[in-house]
Amino acid sequence: MSKNASRMVGRHFLQIPGPTPLPDRILRAMDTAIIDHRGPEFAALAKRALEGIKTIFKTANPVIIYTATGTGAWEAALVNTLSPGDRVLMVETGQFATLWKNMAVKLGLKPEFITTDWRTGADPAAIEEHLRKDKAHEIKAVCVLHNETSTGCLSPILPIRKAIDAAGHPALLMVDTISSLASTDYRHDEWGVDVTVGGAQKGLMLPPGMAFNAISDKAIAASKGSKMTKAFWGWDEMLNMNKIGFFPYTPATNTLQGLAVAIDMLHEEGLENVFARHDRLAEATRRAVRAWGLDIMCRDPKYYSPTVTAVMVPDGHDADAFRSLALEHFNISYGMSFGRYAGKMFRIGHLGDTNDGTILGALAATEMALALAGIPHRKGGVQAAIDYLVTVHASPARAAAE
Ligand code: PLP
Repeated sequence: MSKNASRMVGRHFLQIPGPTPLPDRILRAMDTAIIDHRGPEFAALAKRALEGIKTIFKTANPVIIYTATGTGAWEAALVNTLSPGDRVLMVETGQFATLWKNMAVKLGLKPEFITTDWRTGADPAAIEEHLRKDKAHEIKAVCVLHNETSTGCLSPILPIRKAIDAAGHPALLMVDTISSLASTDYRHDEWGVDVTVGGAQKGLMLPPGMAFNAISDKAIAASKGSKMTKAFWGWDEMLNMNKIGFFPYTPATNTLQGLAVAIDMLHEEGLENVFARHDRLAEATRRAVRAWGLDIMCRDPKYYSPTVTAVMVPDGHDADAFRSLALEHFNISYGMSFGRYAGKMFRIGHLGDTNDGTILGALAATEMALALAGIPHRKGGVQAAIDYLVTVHASPARAAAE
């Protein structure tokens, strides 16, 4: 791409780990005249969206839909269930876990942070050990990220639930699924999660600006005694109005139209197929990275993320300069690096409305950019990904065994 070109030709490779590309069908569903949010057409839409979203969180309980980003849904989870000064247990899996912890401090809670080097997921045993020491049960919630978007590590939620139970601890379990929902298996009810925080702009393939709280009966009971200040975020008014298909304030009507269609699309593909597709594209990406001879940031395969792979660049090379070069020449965007890893890695998102051809295009652009940037690597990453994908399509069992 010439530096003098005034426009990028062709589709942009939006390989950030969300917001993800909008499927045309969702774009069309949102591209309508505004409807009356107090009228019967809206009530039918809201009921469809409110019922449908439960099938994605896998819950029989209500799911609150906010016109907000994921950060708002984090705040809603905390202020609806807790009281000032409450102790909460959090795990420092990366940048987003740190931001949630910082929010808890700002809200007057007392987070306790299990630290990591950001290259692993949350360890259930460490959570159990921490809770066992809290004999007086002063810790009121355990808050973890299912998928840490800043590092590409997925944490095991059911084992964390079991660890809390094994410690005999009554703390609520709150899980951030912003970059895992509708991309990998998640079961709010079955896994005994009390508040699940979700966002629209990743696996749900919607624009940013809509966020969710899925809530258990225990969380609703906790909300009755919660003393945190809240107004906009309060679950009670939402729950009352949602029962009749309305919201206490003007909801994001057009995004709700998109949400209803996104849920249809996920079920048409089949959730199991959606999850298998994400697993396949993630593994193809990791095979490319390994073939290049570069390090995957997530150092333990048991925590590998199905939605994002962070790639370490060798010492002496700048991942941010690499991202700029790749954008300029190959029209591709990656996720940036954060905190102590600033400039040391870039993140390839492989989630949402993405298929084998898209990911191969992205990997090809990446391999070209590595060469152009003079980052030491071996050739053949794209070929490794192709070989793997062909094997999976021919025989998923054989691919898993290799
Ligand atoms: N949690 C996770 C895991 C995220 O990836 C993000 C954003 O990417 C957030 C929370 C914050 O969400 P938002 O930027 O929509 O407020």
